[in-house]
Amino acid sequence: SEYNTEQIRSHDKEHVWHHLTPGAAAEKGMPLFVKGEGLNLWDIEGNQYLDASAGGVWVTNVGYGRKEIVDAISEQLMQLNFFASSMASKPAAIFAKKLIEKMPGMQRVFYSSSGSEANEKAFKMVRQISHKKYAGKKNKILYRERDYHGTTIAALSATGQSQRKEQFGPFVPDFVEFPHCFEYRSQFDETDNYGLKAAQLMEDVILREGPDTVGAVIIEPITAGGGVILPPEGYLKAVEQICKKHDVLLIIDEVVCGLGRTGKWFGYQHYDIQPDIVTMAKGVASGYAAISCTVTTEAVYQSLQEDSSEDKMGYFRDISTYGGCLAGPAAAAANMKILEDENLLENCATLGEKLLTGLKALQDKYPIIGDVRCLGLFCGIELVKDRTTKEPVDESVAIHVANACKQAGLLIGRTNRSFEQYNNILNMSPALCITEAQLERILTILGEVFASLPETK
Ligand code: PMP
Repeated sequence: SEYNTEQIRSHDKEHVWHHLTPGAAAEKGMPLFVKGEGLNLWDIEGNQYLDASAGGVWVTNVGYGRKEIVDAISEQLMQLNFFASSMASKPAAIFAKKLIEKMPGMQRVFYSSSGSEANEKAFKMVRQISHKKYAGKKNKILYRERDYHGTTIAALSATGQSQRKEQFGPFVPDFVEFPHCFEYRSQFDETDNYGLKAAQLMEDVILREGPDTVGAVIIEPITAGGGVILPPEGYLKAVEQICKKHDVLLIIDEVVCGLGRTGKWFGYQHYDIQPDIVTMAKGVASGYAAISCTVTTEAVYQSLQEDSSEDKMGYFRDISTYGGCLAGPAAAAANMKILEDENLLENCATLGEKLLTGLKALQDKYPIIGDVRCLGLFCGIELVKDRTTKEPVDESVAIHVANACKQAGLLIGRTNRSFEQYNNILNMSPALCITEAQLERILTILGEVFASLPETK
């Protein structure tokens, strides 16, 4: 290439403002990746890595180097690359149809280009419905402690992570937090019926605020960035019932869990609930194109369509420019075809079980592993100083483990400064096309790293 490695590193150091990582990443020996295939990555020096983080932030569900997707994108772009999504297009229509087939009860797809934007769209629907049906009184949107919903100011207003909150306020009015649902760090002394009790904490907030003022609740089915936290038995069902009772819309943020990450198309589909609005982004096109979707029931759609003849407020005059980039739905349809043709949901469920079993075996051996949580190929490993007190390890320990894995050629993720004291959680989300051999390799490297920690000696 016309640039050598040294020049690229120097340009990076001088000019790139890296996401998440404070300071110049190049200085810290961050790999400079240049090629990917399946779960494998190569850096510019030719070192090979096994990526168990799906691109670092749960994105590349079908793996790197998928020619089928690249071909579908390039064919579409040669035919027609863009037209505002107020017009009909073939790829948008076809992907919407395929997506809705995987989501019983849902009906309409609004396209945009990031998870944050998909959530913004959901929030805007809630506000519109409030104006249209409730004289502007049912505006509030409840969100949960520890959940993350994106990087824009409204999405951050709906994010329950203290450190982000401290830095980016003031926030948008009428977003209200309710308590987390995290059985491992339960708010209650009694251990029975945790899910129902945690859902009750949400209802308490609805009642305190006044049900007439609450338009929606937004939830991650599995809290991702906040620590890979699975909903306990009965929780989401109870949340759904409470929302129904108070005429509150249920928004499920599937930006991380969709599509396929947990062994089903969507995370919520494990829990027998019917959301009103579902948002998704990362796994929709596995990082090959920037596409996100806000999917609603016909009831939500119709509630905004009523009286459209006297529609003075322009309910449908909402647009996302890049929702009209046709690379998005073309990539998404090809991505979905791979998930189906290669039975990747089944592979995810089966190998996810094996990963869980392997991680539990490590937990039996190393007391520093306080908790292991997995659904499909979405796993969290919580590190503690003491299993009884559950005191988190210092962030430096989690950083050390992640770095030691990286040195051994394995990339894993970790919670990243979202909470003052909870930077102790590692996460893993390999691409869904992972093989048994790759899974064994992940477990072997992790085992070696845990064996070498001073804390486990
Ligand atoms: N929701 C969740 C649950 C997420 O994890 C993220 C991204 N990490 C978002 C929304 C925001 O997505 P994006 O970065 O594409 O805006």
